[in-house]
Amino acid sequence: MQFIETRGNDGIKPSSVPFSEAILNPSASFGGLYVPEELPDLGNDFLKEHCSSHYKTLALDLLQRFGIDIDKEVLEEALSRYDAFDDPDNPVPLVEIEEDCFVSELYHGPTRAFKDMALQPFGYILSDLAQKRGENYLIMAATSGDTGPATLETFKNQNNVKVACLYPDGGTSDVQKLQMVTEDAKNLKVIGVKGNFDDTQHILKDLLASEDFKSELKERGIKLSAANSVNFGRIIFQIIYHIHSYLEMVRNKTISMGDKIYLVVPSGNFGNALGAYYAKKAGLPVQKILIASNINNILTDWITTGTYDLTDRTLILTESPAMDILKSSNIERVMYDKFGAQRTKELMDNLNDDGKFQLSNEELESLQEDFAATFSSDEEGEAVIAVYAKKGYIMDPHTATCMKAYEILRKEKLPTVVYSTAEWTKFSTTVAKALGHAVKDDLEALKWVSDHADAPVPSMISGLFSKPIIHTVVVDKESIKGEMLNFL
Ligand SMILES: *Cc1c(COP(=O)(O)O)cnc(C)c1O
Repeated sequence: MQFIETRGNDGIKPSSVPFSEAILNPSASFGGLYVPEELPDLGNDFLKEHCSSHYKTLALDLLQRFGIDIDKEVLEEALSRYDAFDDPDNPVPLVEIEEDCFVSELYHGPTRAFKDMALQPFGYILSDLAQKRGENYLIMAATSGDTGPATLETFKNQNNVKVACLYPDGGTSDVQKLQMVTEDAKNLKVIGVKGNFDDTQHILKDLLASEDFKSELKERGIKLSAANSVNFGRIIFQIIYHIHSYLEMVRNKTISMGDKIYLVVPSGNFGNALGAYYAKKAGLPVQKILIASNINNILTDWITTGTYDLTDRTLILTESPAMDILKSSNIERVMYDKFGAQRTKELMDNLNDDGKFQLSNEELESLQEDFAATFSSDEEGEAVIAVYAKKGYIMDPHTATCMKAYEILRKEKLPTVVYSTAEWTKFSTTVAKALGHAVKDDLEALKWVSDHADAPVPSMISGLFSKPIIHTVVVDKESIKGEMLNFL
């Protein structure tokens, strides 16, 4: 299958590309994104066939039905990364927390957030492609705390790929920072930036746009790629677990094959939700996808009113930082799918030029056939964490935003999957606070919560505090380019 562009073709780039090209060079014409030409049929027959399939078997078949130009052996090797998850037999467990409400835990990989689900296999595939082509790639990431560790982890010691990761110094949890600065491999560089996440992203954007940086890269024979969810290579792996969760519900007899369910997705860049949308469109029986946000609730506006307006907003820092996002990149892929390339380009041009766009009533109705949305505050999130902790389930602040969405948006009493995108250990100070105990740092919070709530801390988290610090560089904006060129 070929991949095409959300904003149409500019006559310079090829009008369609194979998967390998779309993931190595993810920027499409006019600043658009790559999407599959069509979706495979993953409905009834596919589901029946995989009723008792292992996660990796399901994943391999799904990837092959997309007709991607990656050899089966490479895909198998990539998927074997899931063997290092907590339970190799089931990398994504489904846990019932109350009647009809199931949490799909997407955080059982090496960095304890759902980013591992896609980045683990994706990293292997990208590095393999680079080696086979004899090309060298640089992946630059600006992170608010989850993408950075997962990107470093997947590419460490992989050939032909280097990763430079920028994080806002003081803007991540202690655990997240340690996950980055203790990564020890020659092909990785981690740089703290004096400033917040927004500043960090701007610095990265400026650097990527700078002509002399680009020519320096060219001289060194290095190409740029990306590992955030603008890369379809991430999205394809984020379709699989929605289907897996459905099949888990069939297997545990909550539903019969064909019954409809709700999915609740805590959303920022909308990559996870887009995976759910593709699964639904490809035939998974989903009643609706419920989108949960924090008070940076621009997605709630988009889905409830059709307005997407950046002009009257500033980013607010919350206790669910992975969702502190205003420009949500993957809504573009949904709009392309529903409204076509010409209209998508128009809407995205409006957003770039005027800072906003408005869907028509018809377009809004179409969006609401698949999605409903709401948001919650930090206080509401903490209250949710406390309520479920009492019932014996500890959840992180991102997962907590889902519970209000579950309560108010579930119009019919259908079984529901709530996605848990991070383990509580990444946000332990917030969890401790929610449980009524103020702490000074993550180390104290981890100990207090695990004692108090009888929740284990996995070794990859507890071990961080005694690992040597490898990356100590914290710089201001002016010094980034120099640091980068030194590294390369
Ligand atoms: C990345 C992330 C999200 C948001 O996912 P998107 O695909 O960007 O919508 C939510 N929660 C956590 C913990 C994350 O790391």
